[in-house]
Amino acid sequence: MSTPTKVPLGSLPLPLSSHTLTKNLTPDRTAASPKAFRQVQHSQPSTQRRARLLSPETHFSYVAPNPLPFPFKIVPEEGEDVSPANQAELIERWLAAREALQEKDITERSNGLRLHFPAGREQPRELIGLSETGLRDCLPHLDVGDAFDLLGLPRLTKDPTNEEPQETENPARRELIDILSGYATLINVEEDVDKSWAPWSLRYSGHQFGTWAGQLGDGRAISILATPHPSNAELTYELQLKGAGRTPFSRGADGLAVVRSSIREFLCAEAMHALGIPTTRSLSLISLPELPVLRERIERACVLTRVAPSFIRIGSFESLNPPESMFFLGGGQQEKDLEALRILGKWVGRRVLKLEGIKWREEGQAGDAWGRQLVLESARRNAKMVAGWQAYGFMHGVINTDNVSIMGLTIDYGPYAFMDVFNPYHICNHSDGEGRYSYQAQPSVVMYALRSLLTSLSPLIGAENALGNKAVSPGWAKDMSDEQFAEWRKQGNDLVLAELEDTFQDTCAEEYRRLMHKRLGLRRIDLDDESKLIRPLTSLLAEHRLDFHSTFRRLAYFKPSLVDSPASTGNLESSKADFDAFVESLMALTPEPQMVDTFKAKIDWKKWLEKYSERIESEKGLWDADEDVDLQRERAMRDANPRFVLRQWVLEEVIKKVEQDTKSGRRVLGKVLQMACSPFEPWGAEDNLSPTDILDDEVLEERRYCGIGEQQMLGFQCSCSS
Ligand code: AMP
Ligand code: MG
Repeated sequence: MSTPTKVPLGSLPLPLSSHTLTKNLTPDRTAASPKAFRQVQHSQPSTQRRARLLSPETHFSYVAPNPLPFPFKIVPEEGEDVSPANQAELIERWLAAREALQEKDITERSNGLRLHFPAGREQPRELIGLSETGLRDCLPHLDVGDAFDLLGLPRLTKDPTNEEPQETENPARRELIDILSGYATLINVEEDVDKSWAPWSLRYSGHQFGTWAGQLGDGRAISILATPHPSNAELTYELQLKGAGRTPFSRGADGLAVVRSSIREFLCAEAMHALGIPTTRSLSLISLPELPVLRERIERACVLTRVAPSFIRIGSFESLNPPESMFFLGGGQQEKDLEALRILGKWVGRRVLKLEGIKWREEGQAGDAWGRQLVLESARRNAKMVAGWQAYGFMHGVINTDNVSIMGLTIDYGPYAFMDVFNPYHICNHSDGEGRYSYQAQPSVVMYALRSLLTSLSPLIGAENALGNKAVSPGWAKDMSDEQFAEWRKQGNDLVLAELEDTFQDTCAEEYRRLMHKRLGLRRIDLDDESKLIRPLTSLLAEHRLDFHSTFRRLAYFKPSLVDSPASTGNLESSKADFDAFVESLMALTPEPQMVDTFKAKIDWKKWLEKYSERIESEKGLWDADEDVDLQRERAMRDANPRFVLRQWVLEEVIKKVEQDTKSGRRVLGKVLQMACSPFEPWGAEDNLSPTDILDDEVLEERRYCGIGEQQMLGFQCSCSS
């Protein structure tokens, strides 16, 4: 593939109107077009910063980044009239001065966008991370200028050359940082709505910890741009800033994010992708060192840019058909809007999930039904995602329905963790007292979210069924009686529920099986492998308190010849000693040896390895006959079992380093990102068994970062306040 011509961020091509969310979904009434939004920014900017319940047809609200300390501290200018009658105006003036309203941009851009800056908002901004892999995969046509040089060479240890990157003027990099820090905004205001452009936040609702929570929405996420992938115009990527200030969905919160939580999301999204698990991606991390954020203590603000084809969640559907007659305190109850549900569903089915085999007719004509297929496709994708979580010991921590992507992407990295010592009951979120989102509960809570999706779409599915599998038309729900609604809802649910559960379970089981076979270096899938090999192995890990990841990595070096009967090797002593040594090396992978019954562990391991050995031998013929089979399997297993895992202790250490000193810390961050993006590499000279004093400091530090860390950090629960 040829390398695409690179352009600065603000000049990226925009998608076709038919592929653009804001041109197909319904905006908040108070600013129904970019032009109207512009007006609001000038004259009533508080509209987009005040928390409110949006009207039932709303899918999104135009809103521009504006990271400010919150609560806003509005100080009148000298001589300003502060009498009560003028206070509302004072607030608007104060906010307007901070909105990005000044067009200082001299660049003529072919996409029609214009870059705007704030007049009265000082905002020092410092790039601390940029993801090479996110860039490569999603935005290969983005020119980041000298941003990587500025970040310095990724390193865990001090650079012996002691060279500090010098900052020089570089327009592409400056534009990147101006926009992705939420300082400058790209807007195009034209009479023709199709040509106009403004950033937006999505409205959604959701069930949090199993309870209906009403309107939530992007309280601190603002999508600023979408651009087609240069080699596939059908595939567009949306850029979303997290932590760039308040939106109408912020409720009482500040719309900001802190360095700590932003680093966690930035690293993990790329780590998950490297493990092959569907996820939103990371692009950049920019700290706002002079913007204080109050959490348990005062911290500094940070803006993360994440990238995905779509950020629509299951909660986006729930907000359009919320549970009825529910006694509800807090966020606010909403009315359903079934027409808005149809508009969202059609757009998601056609442009986001790209459902196959459906004839989409233009508005006014009957096309094929899509409701059932949308639910099933989301189920397949989410099933694959959660199977990936289970196979790689990832725990999300807060699988509320508003945090479940319609595309089955891992989204909203909060108090997540990778498993250390294997414990299926592990809870990584310290606010989750009952373990609703514990490791073993994950598949069933994702299924719960999918059931909520079906419930939201069920009246439409029932109506499609009544039409003989045709799509419902615009205005389909206009005069619908309550009885009709109830009937269709029941029919829709009855029609799809069992199929939904089966599809989810089958897909999840199949993907989990596939991944575990890969981790065990097995090529053929026997249906009894799960009961004979995989479950006994995870029980063994749990019982003997073994580290999940290093055990799998160690198993790559296992050879059936180690357990060969003395008769076949003819050398009883050496074979037995080698087998014992291998078993000991596995047993050593516990951080709590004092808790382990070593006698039993040895017997259990030997029994399991004998079975594993037979199973490996049974598929010898499936490997390349010209090369050593053990070596081939070892290589395959090393490519499936990470050497480096983004553990809690690693995250805590990187965070501390960045917080202490940004310049040196961001190099450590860059190196950890590299390790997370190539997790299967033998980091830290894994195969070099010579004395450590001949390895250089950087390699030794890599080796430490691949370790399971100190005892007190194992199973560390992260604070939820992000
Ligand atoms: P989460 O648990 O991060 O998925 O957030 C749940 C809801 O709270 C979503 O609507 C978020 O947008 C919103 N939210 C979380 N943190 C903040 C914040 N600091 N400012 C504004 N809204 C927030
Ligand atoms: Mg969320």
